[in-house]
Amino acid sequence: MSLLKVSGLGKSFGGVRAVDGINFELPAGELLALIGPNGAGKSTTFNMVNGQLRADSGSIMLNGNELVGLPPRSIWKLGVGRTFQIAETFASLTAVENVQMALLSADNKLLSTWRRASAYKRNQAIDLLDQVGMAAQADRPCSVLAYGDVKRVELAIAIANDPKLLLMDEPTAGMAPKERNDLMALTKKLVIERGMAVLFTEHSMDVVFAYADRMIVLARGRLIAEGKPLELRDDPKVQEVYFGS
Ligand code: ADP
Ligand code: MG
Repeated sequence: MSLLKVSGLGKSFGGVRAVDGINFELPAGELLALIGPNGAGKSTTFNMVNGQLRADSGSIMLNGNELVGLPPRSIWKLGVGRTFQIAETFASLTAVENVQMALLSADNKLLSTWRRASAYKRNQAIDLLDQVGMAAQADRPCSVLAYGDVKRVELAIAIANDPKLLLMDEPTAGMAPKERNDLMALTKKLVIERGMAVLFTEHSMDVVFAYADRMIVLARGRLIAEGKPLELRDDPKVQEVYFGS
């Protein structure tokens, strides 16, 4: 059985059918790319899965739980993590403090706990930073880190709650090719080590071909193709929407 099963999922904004009844599945341990031109409905799909937006039709099942209608925090508690297009960390806090904050939140502890116990799960936070190659920079404020390193800290934050599914909307936006490849190689490593599934959007087909196990293609809210990236490379439907040829 798949970890995630999306059926007949739809969402309209006024007269615009942003997502028009899509179906796909995502098994544990898979890195699935969601591609398509601007306005295809990728972000809307993500935001329905994480609960920021409520679907107006269809179903999103995670391990047998219906996510449609649940608030974002409940969905997060069920094991759906996310990263943001622009890395979001507290700039004035250190890398390890940012991860400690995430652990605090995962444990339902209030921020006031933090003031009393800034040592809160520090070792566990360091271990998470180690998994993303950032343990050596644990005590540096995020404001002084390179952008690619902030993205790594953001990944440590995202895995602090031990998600089964991680959603990454354009994780490599604004990154140089080297940083981009490093981040995707790290993501792949986490998928393999933790057995989690990742759904990500990406503009660079090179990245998709190099890292995705499978891809699904959206155009005008519809899912028009799915399969292994290299098998879809020459698909005329994909060529048309993606390369405009
Ligand atoms: P993508 O992420 O693939 O670029 P989006 O999911 O952001 O696409 O957008 C899909 C369509 O829905 C677009 O036509 C967009 O203009 C529209 N849309 C997205 N979000 C909103 C919103 N909050 N209000 C109105 N229209 C929206
Ligand atoms: Mg988008």
